[in-house]
Amino acid sequence: MNRMHKRALVIGGSLGGLIAAHLLRSVGWDALVFERNADDLISRGAGLGTHQHLIDILRRVGIAFDDSMGVRVGKVLCLDRAGTVVLAKDTVRVMSGWARLYGSLRAALPTECYRLGHALARVEADSDGATAVFADGTRERGDLLVGADGIRSTVRAQFLPAAQPVYAGYVAWRAMIDERDIPQKIRAEVGECYAFCDIEGEQCLGYPVPGRDNDTAAGRRAYNIVWYRPTDAATTLVDLCTDARGRRHGMAIPPPLIRPDVIAGIKATARALVAPQIAEIFARSEPFFQPIFDLESSAIAFGEPVPRVALLGDAAFVARPHIGAGVTKAALDAASLADALVAHADDLGAALGRYQREQVMFGRGLVGLSRDEGAYIAAQLKPLHERRGAELPRDIHSLMAAHHESRDRVRALAAARNGG
Ligand SMILES: Cc1cc2nc3c(=O)[nH]c(=O)nc-3n(C[C@H](O)[C@H](O)[C@H](O)COP(=O)(O)OP(=O)(O)OC[C@H]3O[C@@H](n4cnc5c(N)ncnc54)[C@H](O)[C@@H]3O)c2cc1C
Repeated sequence: MNRMHKRALVIGGSLGGLIAAHLLRSVGWDALVFERNADDLISRGAGLGTHQHLIDILRRVGIAFDDSMGVRVGKVLCLDRAGTVVLAKDTVRVMSGWARLYGSLRAALPTECYRLGHALARVEADSDGATAVFADGTRERGDLLVGADGIRSTVRAQFLPAAQPVYAGYVAWRAMIDERDIPQKIRAEVGECYAFCDIEGEQCLGYPVPGRDNDTAAGRRAYNIVWYRPTDAATTLVDLCTDARGRRHGMAIPPPLIRPDVIAGIKATARALVAPQIAEIFARSEPFFQPIFDLESSAIAFGEPVPRVALLGDAAFVARPHIGAGVTKAALDAASLADALVAHADDLGAALGRYQREQVMFGRGLVGLSRDEGAYIAAQLKPLHERRGAELPRDIHSLMAAHHESRDRVRALAAARNGG
């Protein structure tokens, strides 16, 4: 290919794809992002925990991670069923939002490099490059194709069809509401903290995040709740994913189609099980749920004789969200790829070989760590005498200790990649 810069085709325009495009451009590659959605993704609303590695990588690509990027939280609280604080610990966390990061990354990328409405159908890879063939029949040619197309990756399905997401046995109910819609008394009690609710066999967390228009000023932020509940795949999940017309939607239903009786039911369950402060916030929201999966890939670089295709982010590995590291992992994948391409500038095989060695080990480590953290939730569907190790019931002290330590363990796994 006779071009000044090598060209990468990045499939998937979410956070992993955007960070990859920025990092590849920063090391002298042309990078084009292709996103299947026709409309801008900015309306996706969800709170997002951050790790220092993510902040460092955002800074590396020129995104100033200042106070406008997230809400600083200095305390973790654990609330019992009555809403009493049974444990409090100092912490240092920055809670951001999907839309906040997406907006900054997207704005900093030249418009012509980000193409909406491009659904990848298949890849044609040969020794000279890779061609992306889109659903509308259009084609793009590049030196490298990066699959950042998420848990149901089309790229992975083509090159590694055996790697499939495995349902973990529970769902995450999620809710986000404007801070101003929370009664003042509740805001004063939990609004500045990372709050854990003590519920046997389940896990429920709440924390402040940037609000509408990504505002981080007190009073204009939002509050985010994530509540993990054991949910049998064969019966309960099928029912949850059946809409009001009786149509089944597999294992995930679009939030607007969740039946009103399901929403009323989960709000009533929240009142029965969750600390009243968090249950009240939940009851005022429009909750939706996502099933939790594990995904591991045995390889993340493909193509013979020269690899031309790489997987990144959730397309490669999905760790359960307890460790709040999905976006951090996608960013570390992207940084590893960019660094490998610099270290082996004339040898794509060596570069992707190094990328695969570093990030497969890291991805496996994160999946194992997060699986351990959530094992007791999944195990609720098993009789007690069959549960082993991390599946055994956990008291709130060991749960919070494990949650706290997992941040150090994510750091240690990242450092172990390069012997650090
Ligand atoms: C309940 C829950 C809570 C979470 N909390 C956190 C947290 O606190 N912190 C954190 O870091 N992570 C968290 N995560 C994980 C995080 O959301 C993911 O790890 C992260 O979004 C992965 O980013 P990605 O870019 O790899 O994939 P995705 O965000 O899934 O993006 C994939 C993109 O590819 C596009 N696409 C798919 N197929 C095609 C195709 N054929 N052609 C073109 N485009 C395509 C999709 O439309 C999408 O935009 C959480 C996840 C869940 C479920």
